[in-house]
Formats: sequence, structure tokens, C-alpha cells
Amino acid sequence: MKTPNKLGKYSIGTGDRFAHQAKAQLQACVQALQAGVEVTPVWNKSNREHLIIGSQPDSVRHAADAAVQALGWAGSYFCDADHITLQTVDRFLPVCDFYTIDVADAIGKPAAPEAVEAFVARHAGLIGEIALIGTSERFSITEETLRSTAQKYLAAVQQAGAVYRHIAAARDNFLPEVSMDETDTAQTPVELLLILAAIADEGIPVQTIAPKFSGRFNKGVDYVGDVAQFEREFGLDVAAIAYAVEHFGLPQTLKLSVHSGSDKFSIYGAIHRTIRRLDAGVHLKTAGTTWLEELIGLAEAGGPALALAQEIYGEAYAHREELCAPYATVIDIDANRLPAPAEVAAWSSAQFVEALRHVPHAAGYNSSFRQLLHVGFKIAAKMGSRYLDLLEANEAIIARNVTQNLFDRHIAPVFLGRAQ
Ligand SMILES: [Zn+2]
Repeated sequence: MKTPNKLGKYSIGTGDRFAHQAKAQLQACVQALQAGVEVTPVWNKSNREHLIIGSQPDSVRHAADAAVQALGWAGSYFCDADHITLQTVDRFLPVCDFYTIDVADAIGKPAAPEAVEAFVARHAGLIGEIALIGTSERFSITEETLRSTAQKYLAAVQQAGAVYRHIAAARDNFLPEVSMDETDTAQTPVELLLILAAIADEGIPVQTIAPKFSGRFNKGVDYVGDVAQFEREFGLDVAAIAYAVEHFGLPQTLKLSVHSGSDKFSIYGAIHRTIRRLDAGVHLKTAGTTWLEELIGLAEAGGPALALAQEIYGEAYAHREELCAPYATVIDIDANRLPAPAEVAAWSSAQFVEALRHVPHAAGYNSSFRQLLHVGFKIAAKMGSRYLDLLEANEAIIARNVTQNLFDRHIAPVFLGRAQ
């Protein structure tokens, strides 16, 4: 008998833009299991990615099911309708069993004054000092804290409730995540606690919550910010969740979800220490890092595959403004550090790979080059079968890079505590 699908304490979101790397990604979870830790794979793809690639949600499901079958994976796994809203969720309903309900756009929108006052009255018991696990720090909450937090976040949580009920009316057996990361200001741990109180009021059995953390989480490159401050806040967020589980009746399995979580090497030690210290789980969401490993594998293969990677860079360079615009808040490209396409066209495999592979201390590593290619997947999508045929022809070398990147640079430091 098959055990019910259950999100483990540790889980990793893996994006697979062209639906060719699910097996190589799952292989990283197999390696984690061999090293003694079960990490549940969750294949995530947002509506925006589907639109850019021209793909359908069932392609994610097919790729995930095929990978699970090919590797004989006996554990749980999920397909995540990533960053959906009421407007975009419907086509995911038949095939996804994990929903990242994105309500960041509603943050700061006013909720009805009666609803705000009802929230304040319902949670008056939180006023005062709140003791937390794992720290001598306390949350200090006043009536004004309750009111101002409700004014800022209650409408967003009500919207999450509407999306949750819409999904629940259409299907069962799914995990809801609430995400608030795609916004300008970080949520404090106290705000997170009160957001969770509102989520419990809405009756959402939330499994993962994605706040915006302080510091910069740029796409595909390392964290930029104060790591010590991140560690303190991350610990307080975990403590807030523990409090919310105990006092608001939220699921025991509730945990943090770290979005734009790939490649944030300088905070992985802090995340690992905190989840071990507080015996907490975590969901680490990655996406575009795998597409970059496809490019690395193509470049490493040389010949026509290297030429295609060089061509993709040339096109991305030519269209850099339009490619970067939608991601302006999550990339930091120094235009002066972008090599000219003619120069890149003359690079060897080794030069291209060293510039792109995320080994920050490598002499040739170029984070601007990497970030431009990170947002350049639209170029490969337009190439269609020219790109996909070369992926298939070079499957082994690409798969090795995809697996090593996920395991060595992500799973091992976050979940196993191995220094890189
Ligand atoms: Zn996100």
C-alpha cells in the first residue's frame, strides 16, 4: 500500500523550466537519502514561467511522475502551483497538489475597519510580552501593534482565504502555502506571528509560509545583507511559528518557506544551525538555478552545444533591457561587467563554465553574466527544438551538473550541515 503523500520536515522546491531535468533533480534527493536525510522534492512552476515557456501545468506533473518512476522514488513528492492567484489558479487544479498562494499585491490594501477591530478584539490576549522558544528575546505586543498589523496585512490574508476556499471547492489532498515575499519591505517576526493568527482565523491549514526576509535575495546569486541579523530574525520567525502552532491551532507541520532560496550560500549555515537548534523544518525553494546548469552542461559539452550557449548569451545581451525589466527588483547587474558577445563567442568551454558556475571565489566567476543568463531563459524558449534537441543530446553531462548543483551546493549545506 502506498503511504499518503506527506511533506517531510525538510523539502526542496525545484524549478525545471524546460521539463527535462526532473530525474537529475530527484537524483539529488536520492543522494540526500543515502546520506541519511529525507528531503521531499516539490516541483514548482509559476504561471509567469508557463507563459514565457509556453508550457502547461500538466507537463510538470508528467515530468515529476516519470522521474519518480524511473528512479523508484518511494517517498512523497509534490507539484506546486507556484505564486498563483484567484485569476491564475484554475488550470493548475487538475494536476497540482501544492499551492503557493501569492497575496503580496494585497499587502497594504485596507481591510474593512470592522474586520480590523474584530481582529484586535479576538487577539487581545496577545497584548503584553510573549515568551518564545530558543531565545530570551520576547515579543512585545500592544493594541496598536495588533491594529497596525491588521491594517497592513488583513486584506492580504482574507484574499489568501478566498483562494484557499476556491481550491478546496475544486479538489482535496493539497498543501496550501501563503507567500508574501514579492513585496518591498520585509515582515518582522512579530508581524509574522500576527499574520499567522489571521491565517488561522481564515481557517487555512497552512503548511508553509513564505515571508520576505531582510536582505537581498537576488535571482541565482548569493545573499546580500547582514548574515548575523538574518540568523537572529530567522530564529525568531521559527519561534513565531512554534508559538502559532501551539496557540492558534495551525498544523504541527507548519514551517518556513525560503523563496529565491537557491544560491544563497552565505546564509545556509545560519538556516542549518537554526533548524537544528529549534528542531524545525524548512522548505527551500529553488527555480532558475537548474536552467543555468543546463547552460553549463551545454558549454561543457563543447562544439555545437557550446556555440548555442554562446548564441543565447549574445541574444540575452542584445535584449538585456527587456529581459531584466520584469526582474528589476531581484537582480543587480553591473552593465560594465557584462562581456561583449563577440568576446564570449571566442571563449573555450572552460572559460564559459567558470564565468557561469556559481563558485564565487573562482577567478573567472562573473555574477553579472550569471544574472543576465538567469533571466534569459526566454531566449532558449524561443529557440524551441533547437534548444531541446541539444539538451537531449547532452543529457548525461547536463544531468551531472544539475544533480551536483542541487546536492553539493544546496541540500548538503542546508539539510546536512556540510560546509561547502
Ligand atoms: Zn516567491
